[in-house]
Amino acid sequence: MTAIPARADALRALAESPFDLLVVGGGIVGAGVARDAAMRGFKTALVEQHDFASGTSSRSSRLLHGGLRYLAQGRIGLVREASLEKRVIHEIAPHLAQPLPFLFPAYHGNRHWVLWQLKLGVKLYDALCGGRNFGASTWLSRSEALQEIPGLAQAGLEGAVRYHDGFTNDSRLTLDTLRSAARAGATLANYCRFHQAASGGRWECDLEDQLESRMLQVRARAIVNAAGPWADGLPHSRVKLRLTKGIHLVLDRVRFPVPEAVVMTAGKRILFAIPWGDRVILGTTDTDYPGPLEQISIQAQDIAAVLEVANRFFPQAGLVESDALSSWAGVRPLIANPNGNPSEISRSHDIRNPEPGWWDVAGGKLTTYRLMAEQTLDRIVNSGQLGRRGRACQTAKEPLLPPNETAGVSGILPPSLTRQVVEHYCAREWAIHLDDVMLRRSGWHHYLDNAETAARQVADWMGESLGWPAAARDAELARYWKVTGGARAPRNLSGSDLPRKGDSFDFDQ
Ligand SMILES: Cc1cc2nc3c(=O)[nH]c(=O)nc-3n(C[C@H](O)[C@H](O)[C@H](O)COP(=O)(O)OP(=O)(O)OC[C@H]3O[C@@H](n4cnc5c(N)ncnc54)[C@H](O)[C@@H]3O)c2cc1C
Repeated sequence: MTAIPARADALRALAESPFDLLVVGGGIVGAGVARDAAMRGFKTALVEQHDFASGTSSRSSRLLHGGLRYLAQGRIGLVREASLEKRVIHEIAPHLAQPLPFLFPAYHGNRHWVLWQLKLGVKLYDALCGGRNFGASTWLSRSEALQEIPGLAQAGLEGAVRYHDGFTNDSRLTLDTLRSAARAGATLANYCRFHQAASGGRWECDLEDQLESRMLQVRARAIVNAAGPWADGLPHSRVKLRLTKGIHLVLDRVRFPVPEAVVMTAGKRILFAIPWGDRVILGTTDTDYPGPLEQISIQAQDIAAVLEVANRFFPQAGLVESDALSSWAGVRPLIANPNGNPSEISRSHDIRNPEPGWWDVAGGKLTTYRLMAEQTLDRIVNSGQLGRRGRACQTAKEPLLPPNETAGVSGILPPSLTRQVVEHYCAREWAIHLDDVMLRRSGWHHYLDNAETAARQVADWMGESLGWPAAARDAELARYWKVTGGARAPRNLSGSDLPRKGDSFDFDQ
């Protein structure tokens, strides 16, 4: 495997040399920008204040999709753009883009999701993918739908449609994009926060190594603000965001045995049940989020809202909160629009250049990250701020990584729990803390039956690999319990957490 500079080398490189581009934020958007810039031959650095992918980019529904719901909203351009991009990701990273059929049942009296409109809609959806969708959409009669989806609510069922999107692993897509950027020469540092920057021809930037609590200065010709939900808080930023929260629950597939992904509706909104190996992912919600970004908690009413829809569509399931083996919550960094329901706000992206050399890139979706990066780099190059044009964009053609770099360590399902895999994450994927491995690099936390036991084993292996002193192992376990809420299942409902009358929920993809 290609050697990737360790974090210490990256910090030295950051302090020593001027860069063409400094990217702030190691989520999917920053990763995409760093990869594109490095592949065009620009000297590129990226800093992430916490772990790579620890923001929204490890908390999505993991779909590569045009978005059937956005089609229903008439956002044809957005759907076409994302539909083409889902194919591009499948080509450059097949290990992280599994074709996924969805069954969408339609019921009498649901005026938002009418069967004949769905039938037309899925055909248009295929066409918007340039006729190259992962499979041709089809229609199912009522009896076919009941045969295909055992346990589905029967009253009022009229039929269903089947359409196709892609299933990915958001944090792995981010990490593998970063590994690809590093192979192309980018300098990357996690746990390194951007504080401020002053412009005088070149940008002089103050960064903080979060692990050593020490400041370092970096010079760059241009800065890209790819800080996701934090983007409007950076100095010089002109981004205006509206943040909305979405949660997901992970269930045992034996408990909720959907044969393929199922779309469930709540008014105009939709909620997915997505099979993930032995598990099923249920989500998501879409509610305005005014809270702190560092600790996005899941409320009892979030869980109740998801379970209510699932139990309405599968009445015999009788799901309760304790069926959730694991859960996650994230916030969407949507381009601000104070009007309308959260789920009606556009998922399009915005690229701005409020002052010479400062670039804001915000909004968008996981699915469109590569295109967002390409458009950002095109704009920067055309501005002349980098002093040369560099090579043409390669990111849609070049594989993210060669297959031998991903086999056994990166995919949609977690890898086997082995010392070798843990050593790989420590040596080649910048893992520092136990949660870096358990949550984002492997996904074991969300998937394994015995995640708590696994965490202890992983802590032992990480300790040996990274040379932790004796006390560090316990500190890492304590940090992991804290980050993950003490246990995998969402905490028990308390009286004050119970859903209140009048709480309203939006669902979204
Ligand atoms: C519930 C939910 C479901 C979703 N489902 C889908 C889906 O199925 N398909 C899809 O295409 N999209 C989906 N999305 C949207 C998608 O996940 C986001 O658009 C995308 O992950 C945003 O990536 P980002 O890089 O902009 O932000 P982030 O991933 O949050 O990355 C920004 C990073 O910047 C870092 N940062 C902030 N400030 C600083 C600083 N000062 N210095 C250094 N670093 C800093 C943060 O720590 C963070 O890691 C979903 C989103 C949510 C919330």
